[in-house]
Amino acid sequence: MTDNIFIEKTKSIEEKMESDFAYTSIFRESIKKAKEFEASDVHIEPFESGVRIRFRVFGKLFIWKELSLVHRESYIREVKQLCNMSIAIVGKPQDSSVTFSNWKLKLRANIIPSMDGDSIVLRLIDIGREVNLNDSGFSSDVYTNLVQLTQLKMGLCVFSGPTGSGKSKTLNGVINKIDRIKNKVITLENPIEYPIVGATQVETSAKLTFSEALRACMRQDPDIILVGEIRDKETAHLAVEAAATGHLVFSTIHANSAIEVITRLVDTFEVDRGLLKSVLKFSSAQRLISKICSECFQLANLEDAAILRKRISEKWYLAEEKEESLRVKNTHGCQHCNDGVIGRLPILESIAERSIIDVFEGEENSIKKNDLFKNAITHLARGEVCLKEVMQIDKSS
Ligand SMILES: [Zn+2]
Repeated sequence: MTDNIFIEKTKSIEEKMESDFAYTSIFRESIKKAKEFEASDVHIEPFESGVRIRFRVFGKLFIWKELSLVHRESYIREVKQLCNMSIAIVGKPQDSSVTFSNWKLKLRANIIPSMDGDSIVLRLIDIGREVNLNDSGFSSDVYTNLVQLTQLKMGLCVFSGPTGSGKSKTLNGVINKIDRIKNKVITLENPIEYPIVGATQVETSAKLTFSEALRACMRQDPDIILVGEIRDKETAHLAVEAAATGHLVFSTIHANSAIEVITRLVDTFEVDRGLLKSVLKFSSAQRLISKICSECFQLANLEDAAILRKRISEKWYLAEEKEESLRVKNTHGCQHCNDGVIGRLPILESIAERSIIDVFEGEENSIKKNDLFKNAITHLARGEVCLKEVMQIDKSS
């Protein structure tokens, strides 16, 4: 009787996306456009009279399309289906991911229930290329510091910064500079965002925590370990222990400054001060700053430049003759940009080995720190960023 067996071929996500169904077309178009605009996220938000689709491009949101109330529920249902989320679950948070191999794109989808229906955010992850530190936009001194980390034989290097500050991307860029033929590199990530050829990439989850994965990976004889995030005491202790026993460990932590990384590890996660002092090789904090359009920028007025000068304690930050050529973004923008912005640049503050020891010994005055403000000034002097935005960094750091 086997003749009657009919096996229905499951449609791949690429096939589903080719459908002429109106809602699928809108979704397909939104993702294509978001990719073209280099958007980091797509927001699908139900509201009283419909559903709004917004893109976040270079940190700022703009509306791409709005659909009327009659389409609200059906559109959200379609997006949930296409993003591998359960349509049976309504009114509860959900996470999922979907990969479009033909577009070299991965979407990380997240739902929260709002009063007007499920509100969805899709994070766009370009899986088509490895992160290249050379193209990341770091100033040359920061770039050199980061490349030097790849030459270390052992120790702990920690990157911090708020969500969306690009710290994971930087970390991936550093790992990509490491010789993965001669070194065994294991990464523990949640989720895996960028491909690293030649590394063993492990995705952690509720079933496989960072600490469990780290303990297991130590038995695989790694030279270099990337721990996606230190978010609990156990992971902190294991990471420090791994660094103390001949491994080079890279990780991220939630902190606002390079010094706060140390206080978080010691005070919150109770890592032994003496042990941390001997293993910590690099501590940093990162932010992203708007890169201004070189077609439509305006010159900053001299009064603002004078205010900036007052804040700069060391003369060599910025030569005086540069003051007349400092730029601000043209918020009206032009055909080449979005409101005067063409992308974002990472700025980084860091403290390296010798100064880390000074921090532990309480020698605050002798700490050599490349701070965020100083790093932003380097970009300002080159005409890459807006004076007004640099002034804000000064206030917040
Ligand atoms: Zn422009």
